[in-house]
Amino acid sequence: HAKADGRGTFRFFEPDMDEQLQARRALEVDLRKAIGNGEFELFYQPQINIQKNEIGGFEALLRWHHPERGLVPPAEFIPVIEETGLILPLGDWIIEEACKEAASWPGDVHVAVNLSPIQFRNRGLVQSVSRALAVSGLAPNRLELEITESVLLQDNEMTISTLHQLRRLGVRIAMDDFGTGYSSLSYLRSFPFDKIKIDQSFVREMSQRADCLAIVQSIANLGASLGMPTVAEGIETEDQLRQIQAAGCTDAQGYFFGRPKPARELVHTMAALKHKVQVA
Ligand code: C2E
Ligand code: MG
Ligand code: MG
Ligand code: MG
Repeated sequence: HAKADGRGTFRFFEPDMDEQLQARRALEVDLRKAIGNGEFELFYQPQINIQKNEIGGFEALLRWHHPERGLVPPAEFIPVIEETGLILPLGDWIIEEACKEAASWPGDVHVAVNLSPIQFRNRGLVQSVSRALAVSGLAPNRLELEITESVLLQDNEMTISTLHQLRRLGVRIAMDDFGTGYSSLSYLRSFPFDKIKIDQSFVREMSQRADCLAIVQSIANLGASLGMPTVAEGIETEDQLRQIQAAGCTDAQGYFFGRPKPARELVHTMAALKHKVQVA
C-alpha cells in the first residue's frame, strides 16, 4: 500500500508489503490443503430462457469453505489457484463434479462450467472434458463451457484447434463477460461461439446510462444476426428484465431469478422459478 506523506507524494512502507506477502503465502498453503480436505463446493445459479419462460440451465460457480474464514469468494482465490497451477487438478474436479450433478437434472437442462485460460493452455483439457462426460453419462450437448476473451488473447492455432476439438465432442462454447475485452468482435470471427454472455457491468448501468443500454441492444442485435443466443448477466430487478427483453436478449441470469446455491437446494429453485418466470 502506498500512503500519502502529506505533501502529495507517496512512500512505500515495507512492513505492509511483508504483510501482504505473508498473507499471500498463507493463502497458498491453505489452498493446497483445501483440495485434499474437500473444502471446495460448486454452487449453481439458474439461467432463464426468457423466450420460452423456462430454466435453460445452471452455471456452476466455485465456492471455498475455509475452515476459519468461512465462505471465500472466487475473486479472492482464483488468481492464486491459477498462478500456482492448482487450477489444473481443481479444474478437472470442477468439470466432472458439474457433469455428475447435471446428469440428475431434467433432460433438457444444461450446466455451464467456467474455464480458466490456464486450463486452455494445457493439452489435457479435451481429454478431461471427454472423461467427465463418459464418467457422468451426461449428454455432451448439455455441457456448456464458458470462456472469457482472455483465453483468445494469443489467438493462436492451438487455442482455436482446442475449441474445435471441444465442439466436436458435442459440447457448446459460450463467450463470457462479452464486451469487456480488447477486441471482442474479431473473436467472433475467429471462432463461431454458441452463445454470448453480455457482461453485467453494462446491465447494471443500463437504466441510468443510455450508452450502456445501447451497448446491450447492439450485442443482442449482433447475436440475433449471427444466430447466437445472448444472455444478459446480472439481472437484479424486473425493470432490467423488461429492458433486456425489449432489447432482444434470449436468456437472463441474475439475483432476480436466483442466487448461486448448493446443489441440494436446486429442487426448490426449480419449483420456485416455475412460478416466477411465468409471472415475469
Ligand atoms: P462469471 O463467470 O462472470 O460469473 C458470474 C458472477 O456474477 C458470479 O460471481 C455470480 O455469483 C455473480 N452474479 C450473478 N448474478 C448476479 C447479480 O444479479 N448481481 C451481481 N452483483 N452479481 C451476480 P462469483 O460466483 O463470485 O464468480 C466470479 C467469477 O469467478 C466468475 O465470473 C468466474 O470468472 C470466476 N469463477 C467462478 N467459478 C469458477 C470456476 O469454477 N472456474 C473458473 N475458472 N472460474 C470461476
Ligand atoms: Mg461465467
Ligand atoms: Mg460473466
Ligand atoms: Mg466474470
